Amino acid sequence: MTVTTVRVPAKVNLELSVGPVREDGYHDLVNVFHAVSLFDSVTVTPAEELSVSVEGPSSVPTGPDNLAARAATLLADHVGVRPHVALHIRKDIPVAGGMAGGSADAAAALVACDALWESRLGLETLLELGAEIGSDVPFALLGGTAVGLGRGERLTSVEVTGEFHWVFGYADGGLSTPAVYAECDRLRAAGGGPQHWPRVSDDLMTALKTGDAAGLGRALDNDLQPAALSLRPALGEALAAGRALGALGSVVSGSGPTCAFLASSAAHADELAAALADTPHFAQVRQAHGPVPGAEPVN
Ligand code: ATP
Repeated sequence: MTVTTVRVPAKVNLELSVGPVREDGYHDLVNVFHAVSLFDSVTVTPAEELSVSVEGPSSVPTGPDNLAARAATLLADHVGVRPHVALHIRKDIPVAGGMAGGSADAAAALVACDALWESRLGLETLLELGAEIGSDVPFALLGGTAVGLGRGERLTSVEVTGEFHWVFGYADGGLSTPAVYAECDRLRAAGGGPQHWPRVSDDLMTALKTGDAAGLGRALDNDLQPAALSLRPALGEALAAGRALGALGSVVSGSGPTCAFLASSAAHADELAAALADTPHFAQVRQAHGPVPGAEPVN
């Protein structure tokens, strides 16, 4: 029997610049995505009907609302086959952690079903289908480092020299992305947050291009961070603890609550991870490097 497994990375937002709320309720974003070596995997097996099983956190839905199931259904409609597959998801990306784990699983399901059904749609079509599922899905297909415009789905890859070493602090319990955007709007309406057109920082682009970890650490920036901190005040202390322990920079990943800390080398990441694990701030501390490729089949 044909079985296809696809591995897919988490993302951290190196910069997330949020414009004013649009008439359709969304925000224009400028998003610098960076794929890191924390992976989920999705295995698809031909079956009598569509089903989802999850290895890992129990908070992930196993019905048709699972983003991997939605991806399999959308691809099947596009190709003209029945979505009769068993999807098995091994989760290592935190759930509702601001690292786009659900979107990653959708991207992995698209690649896995495309291989299983031998539809050979090509990246452009998969990117379009991915954008229909969610604005973070196309980046999980592409991987690497990329600037995302619009709601984050119009992607341009960014040239990066070398590798960056990260430590991630997972919180106990997630934050809802819509709730964080709503808090961002509330803070801005009350005059407490930035109100600007989204943009990419030149310093960030230069640091990526030259492989300058110290420069990247200084340039990390997330407009959703004040909102995440407002909803979860303890995150402020967690970020400060990482800086006090020598991180080159610290930032809330996406809508949080995962905190990302940049280290100067793999050895520095080892030390920083051990030191952060000794603090009371995180349920789990993980190391990763980036950039890494997007969703790809495992041999
Ligand atoms: P983002 O960074 O894109 O805002 P996130 O990392 O904060 O997302 P996800 O882990 O993608 O959040 O999950 C958000 C919600 O999506 C979960 O609370 C869960 O109910 C739902 N969900 C649907 N499918 C999945 C999936 N395959 N894995 C995880 N969550 C899923």
